[in-house]
Amino acid sequence: MPNAYQNFLSQLDRALAVVPKPVSLVATLQTPNRIIEHTLSIHKDNGAEQSLSAYRIQHNNWRGPYKGGIRFHPQVDLDEVKTLAALMTFKTAVAGIPMGGGKGGVTVDPKTLSAGERERLNRAWTNAFRADIGPTVDVPAPDVNTGSADMDVIAAEFGHPAVVTGKSITHGGSVGRDTATAQGGWYVFEALRSHLNLGPDPLTVVIQGFGNAGATFANIAHALGHKIIAVSDSSGAIHNSAGLDIPALHLYKTAHRSVQGFPGAENLTNSAMLELPCDLLIPAALESQITGENAPRIKAKVILELANGPVTTAADDILFAQNISVIPDILANSGGVTVSYFEWDQNMKSEHWSALEVDQKLRDHMNAAATAVQTIAVQHGTDLRRAAFIVALNRLQETESKQK
Ligand code: NAD
Repeated sequence: MPNAYQNFLSQLDRALAVVPKPVSLVATLQTPNRIIEHTLSIHKDNGAEQSLSAYRIQHNNWRGPYKGGIRFHPQVDLDEVKTLAALMTFKTAVAGIPMGGGKGGVTVDPKTLSAGERERLNRAWTNAFRADIGPTVDVPAPDVNTGSADMDVIAAEFGHPAVVTGKSITHGGSVGRDTATAQGGWYVFEALRSHLNLGPDPLTVVIQGFGNAGATFANIAHALGHKIIAVSDSSGAIHNSAGLDIPALHLYKTAHRSVQGFPGAENLTNSAMLELPCDLLIPAALESQITGENAPRIKAKVILELANGPVTTAADDILFAQNISVIPDILANSGGVTVSYFEWDQNMKSEHWSALEVDQKLRDHMNAAATAVQTIAVQHGTDLRRAAFIVALNRLQETESKQK
């Protein structure tokens, strides 16, 4: 399997084969502007020193400050952070927000850190990257295994709330950020629905991952009367063709830390769950879940990528040939970064928007983004992923030419 950055480059190439762009523009977008690496040193509670590799990749800032999360994970490496930073450049452009693309990471297993060690790590990260971040320069956010408490520490250490987004509400966070990715995904789906090969309501929905993005999506679809027939988490999957009781499942998951064993549902493996017939399949966990190997067995009508990179390029071609629509990550999960931008905007203007205001603006942004992608897909007779990359390339080219 190609490494993640090669997969990004091939996604870019496939869009460029439909709509060619100048060589100099492409060359700039194929390479991050800056790769910044530091070795952080933190005091452990037992008095020892621990050295950790930390990264910030600034991919592109033509449209605005670099934007993207900080990931804490034992497998974080340069290739992964570079890929996620590049995808952020394209995601912010598709979402139509005045931000660029960046990403950060620390190679660490967060389960090994005490609360004090974690706070010292966040302070060390801020001080190591202090000269490279800032409200008008580079604005990090939470990512896998980081959250609002980490962002609150970084903002306090840096000394300005707008240096990061995803803060707690009491520290300058925005209402609606916690549900933005799933809500934005739903608005994108609604905007595209009439173009998708789907029957009438209620829809049958399968969701991989019952965390922030997946569980919130389950709440939204369930509240609208659709049938969530299967969900999974890292322990495995559950299935009930009559539909799962999502509020009861939340209570069960809190009590048992797993969805498996939920009364009235049958357990099945994660891989078998992905192959269930359904209207809407929502990967909301990990990358590379639908590959050239299992794509021929996928029976969903539509796949909405709430996770980053869950469908490989090889799978894309097989799914397209099977008439299965894939709504790509850079469009489908762009609600998260869109409300992050709203948080930054509120901080910069010292404003506090209501939940209603945030929701209306999110819906408008997602509608506009989805419509732009659909229009290009029809114009060029191509799939939604290539179309989303083309929308982003057109917008990046426009901004680049204004800067010349
Ligand atoms: P999360 O940690 O809250 O949830 C992840 C879920 O996936 C958990 O329920 C976990 O148990 C489950 N999981 C882990 N391994 C699994 C496996 N092998 N099979 C099935 N389930 C598994 O994370 P999240 O914030 O919901 O993010 C999920 C995905 O969405 C990631 O790819 C992330 O990059 C992407 N995303 C999230 C946001 C956001 O705002 N939260 C924004 C954009 C993209």
